[in-house]
Amino acid sequence: MHHFDYRDNRLHAEDVDIAALANKIGTPFYIYSEATFRRHVKVFSNAFSGTDALVAYSVKANSNLAVLRILASEGTGADVVSAGELARALHAGIPADKIVFSGVGKTTEEMEAALNAGIYQFNVESAPELEALDKVAGELKKHAPVAIRVNPDVAAGGHDKISTGRKEDKFGVAWGSARALYARARELENIEVKGVDLHIGSQIADLAPFEAAFKKAAGLIADLREDGCRIERLDLGGGLGIPYGAGEIPPHPDDYAQLIKRVTAPLDVQLIFEPGRMIAGNAGLLVTKLVYVKEGEARKFMIVDAGMNDLIRPALYDAHHDIIPVTRDLDAKNDRYDVVGPVCESSDFIAKARTLPDMKPGEFMAIMSAGAYGASQSSQYNSRPLIPEILVNGDEYAIIRRRPTFDEMTALERYPEWMG
Ligand SMILES: *Cc1c(COP(=O)(O)O)cnc(C)c1O
Repeated sequence: MHHFDYRDNRLHAEDVDIAALANKIGTPFYIYSEATFRRHVKVFSNAFSGTDALVAYSVKANSNLAVLRILASEGTGADVVSAGELARALHAGIPADKIVFSGVGKTTEEMEAALNAGIYQFNVESAPELEALDKVAGELKKHAPVAIRVNPDVAAGGHDKISTGRKEDKFGVAWGSARALYARARELENIEVKGVDLHIGSQIADLAPFEAAFKKAAGLIADLREDGCRIERLDLGGGLGIPYGAGEIPPHPDDYAQLIKRVTAPLDVQLIFEPGRMIAGNAGLLVTKLVYVKEGEARKFMIVDAGMNDLIRPALYDAHHDIIPVTRDLDAKNDRYDVVGPVCESSDFIAKARTLPDMKPGEFMAIMSAGAYGASQSSQYNSRPLIPEILVNGDEYAIIRRRPTFDEMTALERYPEWMG
């Protein structure tokens, strides 16, 4: 559930009238509802109340500092995948002892930063990474708390590009070599084995792949304990899907929690979760303006002022985002349109062959479910400035990232001396 609704046919974010805001600050922009973030965190955390669980929000879904501060105030931790995300999480007030560090390519500099910060856990994804971490920790005279990310070879995720737990995927340690790597980890002086980690993908729409993967993990924990390994944590990753369109009904966090409690109760481990999309996805939308309606020979196009540099999910994952008018005309006729951006790429589209109410240039539309992997994946391709991010709280709003100026966009660039 989210807090974006029509009032008198005008779309509101909580109590803020979006059309009025768009007229004031200009489009395109992202707009987030603070109440929705808080609600999603509570729904997820409450589902696991009574169990020892750490919810480590996946920072890559939406890494704006103000968003991270909301989550910090709800007591969540963070799952980071770079030194930059680590710095953001700490800056926003997420304590180091609630931060886990995932990712296949951690550099020694990133390991150093994380060890110096005193993070809760490294999710190690390969044998060479484990050796490197041991070495860095030794140099700093520290111990690195580690879970090994295992690849359960389970197909899941709404799209080939967001499935991560099959043996063809680059993530995690192959199932067959996990036990041996744990044995190696126990030999390493500066590594403290804490747990088992897995993350099978994103936007997972049913519970079956979770169940298959989690049962395999439970089996692995039993084997590792037999080998004499102390396993006290089980990190189950993120991946719970959200509804992007009508008719899509992802599993409810309560059902997900029931499944997990059933599979993990006998294990006596602390559970760690890394939800991203489930927290942020429906807490934000992208507001854009219709610039032109173009009648092609085969199709009609709505050309809008948001492009793939602002929201790349349709181009990258064939993702569906609902599109609704910001000011609704209930008598408007419908037609089929391709909704496309201004970027010079054929893959710059937001929707294809979508039935939408007729709108006039200058009118605003909202691209729904854009709070996760929207702003955080945006770029300045085509030298289009990063777009503002707005946070709403009741009838108040704040610009939590403003649009850069041309000077700011080019501030890091220099003409070489030889050009005079
Ligand atoms: C991306 C990612 C997540 C978050 O996935 P969601 O689908 O947004 O919940 C969690 N853990 C890891 C390791 C990830 O890479």
